[in-house]
Amino acid sequence: MSLPAFRVSEPVKGELRILQLYPEAMNIYGDWGNTLAVARRASWHGYTPVILEYNVGDEFPEDVDIILGGGGQDSGQVKIIDDLPTIAPALTRLASEGVPMLVICGMYQLFGHEFTTVGGSTLTGVGILDVRTQGSETRLIGNIVTESEEFGTIVGYENHSGKTVVGPGSTPLGQVTLGAGNNGDDSSEGARTGNVIGTYLHGSLLPKNPAIADFLIRTAAERRYGSFEPGALDDSLEQQARRSAQSRPR
Ligand code: GLN
Repeated sequence: MSLPAFRVSEPVKGELRILQLYPEAMNIYGDWGNTLAVARRASWHGYTPVILEYNVGDEFPEDVDIILGGGGQDSGQVKIIDDLPTIAPALTRLASEGVPMLVICGMYQLFGHEFTTVGGSTLTGVGILDVRTQGSETRLIGNIVTESEEFGTIVGYENHSGKTVVGPGSTPLGQVTLGAGNNGDDSSEGARTGNVIGTYLHGSLLPKNPAIADFLIRTAAERRYGSFEPGALDDSLEQQARRSAQSRPR
């Protein structure tokens, strides 16, 4: 299916380098779709997306503009846990320099201080987000809708055993109106410190939440080029997908 003309623009505003963390081990429930959504939307805004991947043992690419990470089963998190400390200093430095990051579920948990699995293993995180997670016997599963001051209504899907508590060093991304969120108790969902966002929402998240995709692109363009010149995008397809997702029961 060819896209309507308004969806195609000549990328003339420069490159944006998009790094996906551990796609081999941490990429469930369509989270790679976030990378595809950011890349496609960046090109519609007139930028040239360059997609990079980092897997266990690779050389970490330091010159990046956006960092994305997907979710994973406990077993996937165990596969990367010994490698994660080797890139933690670079991730921490890039976060402190304002590089926009979006990490989903399992990677969200590992961007916190630690995740203790339901089996009792404690996985040490990078500590960029001030969150701590404890696995539980009951999985929190289903469609989810939250309200965020900056991004409005956020729609997605959650499936996690971990219950996350946000500490004073981060702020929740939003408040749950349908679903469980961070822990099913305090109605918070996700966490944010600076330009780093963690959330439990799979789906993939960004095709149905273009405001968050544009936040990542805008922040990256402003950091690399000093300004962000948005393209004239028609989000009618995205709005249709949001309405459809929001109409689904839990
Ligand atoms: N393994 C983690 C948990 O169960 C994360 C799951 C995920 O990324 N969907 O909480």
